[in-house]
Amino acid sequence: MQVLKFGGTSVGSAARMKGVFQIVTADPHQKIVVLSAVSGTTNGLLAYAQLLADDKSEEAITHISALENQYHELVNELYSDSDILNKAHKFIDEKFDFLREFSGKKFELSEEKIIVAQGELISTQLFTWYVHQEGEKAILLPALDFMRIDKSSEPDEYYMKSMLEKELQIAGESPIYITQGYICRNAYGEVDNLKRGGSDYTATLIGQAIDAEEIQIWTDIDGMHNNDPRIVQKTYPVKNLSYDEAAELAYFGAKILHPSCVLPAQKAKIPIRLKNTMDPKAEGTTISKRKADGEITAVAAKDGIVAIKIKSGRMLNAYGFLKKIFEIFEQYQTPVDMVTTSEVAVSLTIDETSRLSKILLDLRHFGQVEVDHNLSIICMVGNFTSDQRGYAAKIFSAFEQVPIRMISYGGSKYNVSVLVDSTYKKTALQAVNEKLFGLDG
Ligand code: ADP
Ligand code: ASP
Ligand code: MG
Repeated sequence: MQVLKFGGTSVGSAARMKGVFQIVTADPHQKIVVLSAVSGTTNGLLAYAQLLADDKSEEAITHISALENQYHELVNELYSDSDILNKAHKFIDEKFDFLREFSGKKFELSEEKIIVAQGELISTQLFTWYVHQEGEKAILLPALDFMRIDKSSEPDEYYMKSMLEKELQIAGESPIYITQGYICRNAYGEVDNLKRGGSDYTATLIGQAIDAEEIQIWTDIDGMHNNDPRIVQKTYPVKNLSYDEAAELAYFGAKILHPSCVLPAQKAKIPIRLKNTMDPKAEGTTISKRKADGEITAVAAKDGIVAIKIKSGRMLNAYGFLKKIFEIFEQYQTPVDMVTTSEVAVSLTIDETSRLSKILLDLRHFGQVEVDHNLSIICMVGNFTSDQRGYAAKIFSAFEQVPIRMISYGGSKYNVSVLVDSTYKKTALQAVNEKLFGLDG
């Protein structure tokens, strides 16, 4: 079985949904199709929830009704069968009546998750009916019945595997199963999600659960590019990436993949193929256990980074100091990305800042603490084997014009990271494009 995931733009209009149908039915493999919400919907639903939270009921209703109109138009374009068309209009009416029920009463924060989940619930139902209209068999699997995260917000792999197996059994044989990306339940049974861009993660988690032959992630670009196409002008798709390279790029800002989505495929040794819905013939990128060939493969950048420096004479010749520092980050469940140390100071970076003030309060017991905001990590990925010379010189020559705040080299052989002020991000990515990839910025 294969897993095929289509992102928001790929299902962003009636024409795009018809394109997805062509791709899904182009080969005879049995497949689970994972769909995101129609592009713009998740943002729209989150904006609606925010308006309700801000007690702006009237604005919220205007906002949600505009979104509803877009769906009625989409439905009109999608279906030629009048029975299905009527059913779909009624379905949209019901969904949006349900959404409107959240206005006019006190808004609970937990309701945001229920509101935002409607995007994927709508897109999958509409697409399933389209497949039926075209005379193909497809069964809709409710993701809320098998996708679950645990108390630490980590995927509950065992539960998902057994529940999905059960769901598939109940559903019976079908060449195509369709399910919602992004949405899940939490350990308390409430509707939750896998965070923004989470449909990629749904796809790889499902892939792992069913031991799929292949996971395809279909999006609006022909694979992972060597540099961020939103920021630099000339980029090209990278044909092959190792899991480690792809995981680093996803984690460090390559938006094409959810930050955590590579690991389930890597653990289950399932190749991920990144493909372009607008250009299905384009080769795209294959992510597998291929060993990179000693080259710098790609670069990505992650914003919103905060650097913390702890200076203390107590570090001199002392052991256990770093342990105590890291325990604070563990206590506040805040991941650390980069670390550098000297005899008298340790600098590290975080991007999850919700508990920053508490962390700083505790760190001050250990010495003088300095904090810098608005930083970006520029992460260069490749296979930097230590016996090959010249990488460091090559990389750092690209940063000639950029003040470097921190460097991480040697932590893993797949990643060299440089911390810069975010105002230098574009300059840095352009310089890397010119000096390391020989392309215009
Ligand atoms: P989807 O809605 O299909 O999930 P996303 O918007 O999440 O699509 O991801 C695709 C986008 O990721 C591309 O349109 C591109 O702008 C952006 N992107 C950022 N970095 C990269 C990269 N290195 N390679 C390819 N795309 C990238
Ligand atoms: N619809 C969700 C989002 O916009 C999930 C996804 O697209 O992957 O974040
Ligand atoms: Mg995405």
